[in-house]
Amino acid sequence: MNYTRDNIVAIASGTGYAGVGIIRISGYDLFPIIEAISGKKNLKPRYAQYCNFYDDKNEILDSGILIYFDNPKSFTGEDVVELQTHGSPVVLNMLLKYCISLGCRHAQPGEFTKRAYLNGKLDLLQAESIADLIHAESEASAKGAIKSLRGEFSHFINAINERLINLRMFVEASLDFPDEDIEFVANAKIKEKLEVIRNEIHPLLKTTRQGVFLNNGVNTVIIGQPNVGKSSLLNVIANEEVAIVTDIAGTTRDIVKQKIIIDGIPFNIIDTAGIRQTEDAVEKIGIERAIHAISEADICIILIDSRSGIMAEDKLILEYVPDHVKKIYVHNKIDLSGEVPRISVEAEKTNIYISAKHKAGIDELRKYLLDTVGFESATESLFIARTRHLNAMQKAVSHINTAFVHWEELEILAEELRYAHTALGEITGEFSADDLLGEIFSKFCIGK
Ligand code: GDP
Ligand code: ZN
Repeated sequence: MNYTRDNIVAIASGTGYAGVGIIRISGYDLFPIIEAISGKKNLKPRYAQYCNFYDDKNEILDSGILIYFDNPKSFTGEDVVELQTHGSPVVLNMLLKYCISLGCRHAQPGEFTKRAYLNGKLDLLQAESIADLIHAESEASAKGAIKSLRGEFSHFINAINERLINLRMFVEASLDFPDEDIEFVANAKIKEKLEVIRNEIHPLLKTTRQGVFLNNGVNTVIIGQPNVGKSSLLNVIANEEVAIVTDIAGTTRDIVKQKIIIDGIPFNIIDTAGIRQTEDAVEKIGIERAIHAISEADICIILIDSRSGIMAEDKLILEYVPDHVKKIYVHNKIDLSGEVPRISVEAEKTNIYISAKHKAGIDELRKYLLDTVGFESATESLFIARTRHLNAMQKAVSHINTAFVHWEELEILAEELRYAHTALGEITGEFSADDLLGEIFSKFCIGK
């Protein structure tokens, strides 16, 4: 990955007016720049200094706090200066321009974090979690991102990787020295070691999937006719934590997507009420999008008026819901039909009887939704993860499973273990292609 050691600068604080704004510079030999901006020389690292900030004509632009971090004990691992000014966009931009005229380059999105990664301050997974933390939309997501940033997820991956490396050495050695006695002893240990790895990686796959839910939300499709109570249901399941009940997707004929938070876990609710048979070309495009969204669903709620039962239109849409998607039949308006709130499982179908209007059966439904995606409670200790991590983890698990089947065939075993190791290494960035890094960091905001 190309890494030029030039000095980069950016406004690190958010856009808009604020009490305080921060400019961050990273690179080497920053003293001349610091002196030009603040008049200060030979700064003591990690000490906050109150000072004036000047422009090229030595006029005072602002006064504030300056902190210098010497390498490698800084965020990026390089020398870093932070200028804390008043949070005026105009002041910040004047200072930024001056820094650029002093030879700094305006940083690209994520460039500070990329340097931190390239200098070994963070692994790739931790670097990604910084962006996830900044963009977190629920408390649980933010807490999960902090856990990943602090290395909890990486720790599990590294622990498994260490076992894999150890086992690979064992297997490769048995391949190189195929003495029968050694092989016999080795084989016994191989199976044992594989078992340990398998027992560790399977639960990690589950928590990774939950980590992705925390990051992206649980995709939930609601199938239900107009007036069956979808909006009412959304409002009551989101409860007082509502925080966000916004439309994500755009145009009128497009799918309607809403994000709600249940017990701290984000759910993306897709309303499919618009799907019906049509000859209208534009409407067809909208319907295709809805069908695509359905194909990516994790859960499907079939919302039914408990007086009329499931409708023919619902059955039509249900055909598009993939088999692996968890389906929940929710019977609404029980206050009108005289049912009592309850959950019943009949012929492997889960039925939940509720009244959205009278808030009956809602706790049961909320709990069921969380259970379905494997969450016991929001207080559960979870780290955040990305689809990229989940895919790599699935790849690793499948190679471990194959390794297990062929554990007596050393050559196949060696190959499968190598694949599993590579897949896990991709998560932390131990093995990663330049284009992947480019893609990951370009999605950051500038100044991070
Ligand atoms: P949507 O079109 O599927 O989003 O349905 P709405 O949530 O807008 O509800 C349609 C109507 O049904 C509204 O007048 C709601 O107050 C009413 N409604 C929703 N849930 C219930 C319920 O459990 N009992 C009763 N009696 N009315 C309900
Ligand atoms: Zn509605």
